[in-house]
Formats: sequence, structure tokens, C-alpha cells
Amino acid sequence: MYEGAIQDLIDELGRLPGVGPKSAQRIAFHLLSAEPADVERLASTLIRVKNEVRFCRICGNVAEADECRICRDARRDPSVICVVEEPKDVVAVERTREFRGRYHVLGGAISPIDGVGPDDLRVRELLTRLADGTVTELILATDPNLEGEATATYLARLVTPMGIAVSRLASGLPVGGDLEYADEVTLGRALSGRRRVE
Ligand SMILES: [Zn+2]
Repeated sequence: MYEGAIQDLIDELGRLPGVGPKSAQRIAFHLLSAEPADVERLASTLIRVKNEVRFCRICGNVAEADECRICRDARRDPSVICVVEEPKDVVAVERTREFRGRYHVLGGAISPIDGVGPDDLRVRELLTRLADGTVTELILATDPNLEGEATATYLARLVTPMGIAVSRLASGLPVGGDLEYADEVTLGRALSGRRRVE
């Protein structure tokens, strides 16, 4: 279509999730006409994200240090862990202001079709965190879709025998969707109305 760098940029942008060919072209030409300083800031931010952002050694959330902001916060209740699929779900639950415990980010959900099993997720790390008896409640806040449900069922079976109270978000969340798409009122209600998994 185009020559050289502009086509390379359109191709790169088109590989991003949620960016179709038309959007890729629009963003590319927007950048072409933007101020050099703005484009440089974007470019350096992209590089910084790869160099500086790490994953918390405790919970798996994104962090700029060994441990994330939430794990470092002594005011957060260490007896409750909210299990989510992705770091963006931590943000979604934080927005509700309903939760004062800690998190555990699995890094995905069980999906046999995509070849993702429990060993591909941070399940072993979760069990290690549960071993010393500090945690008394686990809230399974995986996505309200097939993979999220399968993951929650798997974890509940694994953890309930350890004597830890396991709960699942209440219904009311848009079924089949992502946690991040739920508005904070709905998600907050689902969190406070969580049901114990027996
Ligand atoms: Zn953390």
C-alpha cells in the first residue's frame, strides 16, 4: 500500500489487539503529522514499559519494584486474597473501593482449547501463599465466562480442603464478558454479595 516506514508502522499497529487495518492507518497518519516531541515521548514510553515494568514476586500484578504497591501496603488485610486473571482486573476491583485485602494474579484462565492448563497459570505460587495459614478467605474473581468459571471451579476444589473459605462473585455481572467491562457499581455489588463455594 504505502512505502517504507509508514507501511511498517501501519503493519505494527495492526498487530495490536483491537486495532483493525483502518484504525492502524488512522493512527499512523496521526503520528506522522504529530509534534516530534509527542512522538518521541510515546516511543520512549513504549521502551520504558518493557524495561521497567516487572511483575510482583508475591501476587503477579504489574510493579515497578520487586513487590507491587498493594503488596507493600501494610494497611491491606493479609487474610483475604482476591484471585483475578489479569493485572487489569486488579484495577477493576480497586475501582469499586469495596476490597481492602490482597490480590493474586493468575496470568490467564484455564482454557483447554488454547492449551492453557493450571501449570501455565500462577497456581503453584497461590498455594505457596496459602501454606502458612495467614489467608483465611479466597475470593475467586475470575471472568464470568466459560474459562473463568472452569478456573474458579478448579481452584475451589483445590483450596476448600485446606480449610480456607472460598467465595465466588455474585451473579449480576455481564455473562460471557470480562471483569474489566463491568462498571464499578455492578462489580462492587458482586463483590459484597459474594457467595461461599462449598
Ligand atoms: Zn503484589
